[in-house]
Amino acid sequence: MSTASPVNGTRRAQTVLHKVFGYESFRGQQQEIIDHVIGGGDALVLMPTGGGKSLCYQIPALVRKGTGVVVSPLIALMQDQVDALRQLGVNAAFLNSTQELGERQVVEAQFRNGEVDVLYLAPERLRSEATLRLLDSGTISVFAIDEAHCVSQWGHDFRPDYLELQVLHERWPQVPRIALTATATQATREEIAIRLKLGGAKVFVSSFDRPNIQYRIVPKNEPKRQLLSLLQGEHRGDAGIVYCLSRDSTEKIAQFLVGHGITALPYHAGLDAQTRARHQAKFVREEGQVIVATIAFGMGIDKPDVRFVAHLDLPRSVEGYYQETGRAGRDGRPATAWLAYGLADVVQQRRMIDTSEGNLAHRRRLQSHLDAMLALCETTDCRRSQLLAYFSERATSCGNCDTCLLPPQVWDGTVAAQKLMSTIVRLERERDQRYGAGQIIDILLGKKTDKVADKAHHELKTFGIGADLKDAEWRAVVRQLLAQGLLAVQGEYQTLGLTEASAQVLRGQREVMLRRDTQLPRARLAGGSRSGAASTTGGAKLEAAALSAEDEALFEKLSAWRKVTAAEQNIPAYTVFHNSTLMSIAAAHPASLRELSAISGVGEAKLVKYGQQILDLLA
Ligand code: ADP
Repeated sequence: MSTASPVNGTRRAQTVLHKVFGYESFRGQQQEIIDHVIGGGDALVLMPTGGGKSLCYQIPALVRKGTGVVVSPLIALMQDQVDALRQLGVNAAFLNSTQELGERQVVEAQFRNGEVDVLYLAPERLRSEATLRLLDSGTISVFAIDEAHCVSQWGHDFRPDYLELQVLHERWPQVPRIALTATATQATREEIAIRLKLGGAKVFVSSFDRPNIQYRIVPKNEPKRQLLSLLQGEHRGDAGIVYCLSRDSTEKIAQFLVGHGITALPYHAGLDAQTRARHQAKFVREEGQVIVATIAFGMGIDKPDVRFVAHLDLPRSVEGYYQETGRAGRDGRPATAWLAYGLADVVQQRRMIDTSEGNLAHRRRLQSHLDAMLALCETTDCRRSQLLAYFSERATSCGNCDTCLLPPQVWDGTVAAQKLMSTIVRLERERDQRYGAGQIIDILLGKKTDKVADKAHHELKTFGIGADLKDAEWRAVVRQLLAQGLLAVQGEYQTLGLTEASAQVLRGQREVMLRRDTQLPRARLAGGSRSGAASTTGGAKLEAAALSAEDEALFEKLSAWRKVTAAEQNIPAYTVFHNSTLMSIAAAHPASLRELSAISGVGEAKLVKYGQQILDLLA
């Protein structure tokens, strides 16, 4: 263990931050966390995606004596993580099932000899006694448990192997542990602490706000066209993720986008491992790649310049949604989180919960996750405030979400709700029939379709009493009543029924306020790919700024150089330099190595390796 005094530890952490990472100052709580861990304390770190969690364990690993062992479920990304650290001159390595025996033996020998600074390890490795013995044979500076929410069964990413991680504390009680996650409601937080035996750990909760992400939720009418308009109108040439619920739709949407000239690839658990790895690598390594994926995709992908995350189906929980959207804009620059959501989503999800396996408690949990998600979709308040409230954080209106940019109109939907509910009641009482939204809306609109005529529904007293609203408006009414628990979806045919709360509306004892669906005009959108940087970093180092046309050309030149340089080494482009660093270089025109080293993201190793090439390029 390190014998460094606290002051000494802090100073060494600062030195590593400057020299290795090329950053001027710590962000948010980084310094406190790092000091605490360097001093030998356990920590539970809750920080949003892009907040800068990696430094919180990488710096203690470099300052304390021995190897920092990082447990991560993301085998497919270990190579990239290791490559990124090696670019910084850090001796990083990993052990997982993708390696050949020979390769593994080399890493093991280096570990025993104390030559590895940071070792990434898949959690299942810790089940084997051989791995535990290997760890015994070296010196460990710190254990980092990344994606710590995977230990929680309440959350959405449970991994049974994570339950084994208690062994770390039992076997190496003197080694500090730091558990990190970007997703944590109070419930998840408590579960992590209990299951990882981190009761004595200091808890660091950062703000979960991601101010550079613009949150927008739109009514879904023609999802493909809406998506295309988002991509072509605001995110041409940008990298982004489109989430869909089913494997089938990921394939279809990817095909559709490709048909419209967008470089898109599908990703889901049904693809063979090789294809999955290839698609993921293209997304991570190449610029402007769109990936259309199920939620199987994305955890731990630390590509900094993802400019949008679009959801074409309703996510199952706010926690999952926030984690997924958090993958946009890690570089602190403007990014879009866009969700299209409609009546069919609510019907489908309510139904999925009803028919899901598992006990009542499990279904209740799913239900409450969904209710929170629906409340977010239907809110007339600031989306961000509502999201943050879910993580027990208070915020005022953000000015960078759709409801702030264009406050939705609210209308009194009590009479509309009563008309709809009484149609349902009449069908049930007079005919003993139950129908889905389509038929009920046709009755309200007074549309004499074949099905209406066939069932003589035009003879119902409520036939045509809803002609004052359009079909789409009625669908919005149904959707919102479902979201508010004033209607229920029943049975195999997804028919609509009343709930206990509906009775109050019918009796006129409860008002129903609804939001009017609107689309934000494009002119109001502040987003966009490369202008108006909103960096979240502090410090005096040069930050990425909006570029002049001339500097933009320089940036393109630097990007092209980076592309070749990364390809030569077979590593992702962003591990050479982030976009934000290249932009700062383009804006600052450094004329010497010393000036170049003042730019955020240029540490010693990169200065030595690439500095002269960049200066030549600029000259
Ligand atoms: P997280 O793991 O929390 O999602 P990362 O550790 O990947 O976030 O950090 C997000 C981005 O911010 C990375 O590009 C990282 O290099 C950068 N970063 C982290 N800390 C700092 C800092 N103190 N100064 C400048 N950039 C930083």
